Amino acid sequence: MSADCIFCKIVAGTVPSTKVYEDSEIIAFMDIGPVVKGHTLVVPKKHCDPITGVPPELLQKLILVVQKIAKAHFAGLGAQGLHVTQANGKLAGQIVPHVHFHLIPRFESEGPQRNWVPGKYASNEEMSQYGKKIRDAIR
Ligand code: AMP
Ligand code: ZN
Repeated sequence: MSADCIFCKIVAGTVPSTKVYEDSEIIAFMDIGPVVKGHTLVVPKKHCDPITGVPPELLQKLILVVQKIAKAHFAGLGAQGLHVTQANGKLAGQIVPHVHFHLIPRFESEGPQRNWVPGKYASNEEMSQYGKKIRDAIR
């Protein structure tokens, strides 16, 4: 637990939340600032951040809960599409530094939502150079 972390306080029950799922290691609750009504957060009870700091077994469990909630968005909210997103660091727009997955249901009434604009490499060689940096760093 991190003393000044809002999600740790939700886990501890000292800050209220509208929970939709809970097990011994994970909770899911409604985001209070929904991008779309139904927006849900899936959060490990253990304080960890960023995604690279999550123990692998816990991360596997988290993604299975994400899938469980995704099914409930389709079945329960009638979602017609779904964004699953996860931010790491201020530059990625992260506000709460306790790892979490956002599930944002999408509906035909909003039209197609794509929240980034594709860019371009100068050449295939440049793309290969970026690919190499990543390949060489995988361990
Ligand atoms: P992020 O930018 O990925 O760190 O997102 C943090 C999310 O937490 C935002 O979408 C907030 O609306 C949401 N949030 C912050 N405080 C609370 C809270 N007390 N209960 C529910 N959601 C919260
Ligand atoms: Zn925390």
